[in-house]
Amino acid sequence: MPRVTCVQGGWVYGTQVAFPMDPRCYADRPDVMVPCNQLFCAACQVPVKHMDGVQNGARWSKTSLATLYDSTDPDLWLEEVELVPAYRLYYCQCHWYATPGGTPAGNLDTKDIDDWACHGHPSGADGA
Ligand SMILES: [Zn+2]
Ligand SMILES: [Zn+2]
Repeated sequence: MPRVTCVQGGWVYGTQVAFPMDPRCYADRPDVMVPCNQLFCAACQVPVKHMDGVQNGARWSKTSLATLYDSTDPDLWLEEVELVPAYRLYYCQCHWYATPGGTPAGNLDTKDIDDWACHGHPSGADGA
């Protein structure tokens, strides 16, 4: 199936922009404000997950990030994080990024992450 990708490698947004659950939903223009729901980390080869209302916690090591990535235990998370409603936390097994704003995934305000990009959406998407 042909796939379409978000502009600028996909955007990350804080919680003021609702996260679309439909995988066909993507950003075909920079101004549509659609968070990419198909972000993929080329470094650790997993989909980038997200959690709303979380800023960040301690300085997570890659080991603890990998543990958190696979965990569905909220207690494990809540020990580590600060809950801030405006923030959306994005994480893979090697990086995390939390923001209240909106930024292209390839242009985050940290030098540590250059491996996240839109992995493509099923075509037939409306784009908004
Ligand atoms: Zn995308
Ligand atoms: Zn990664």
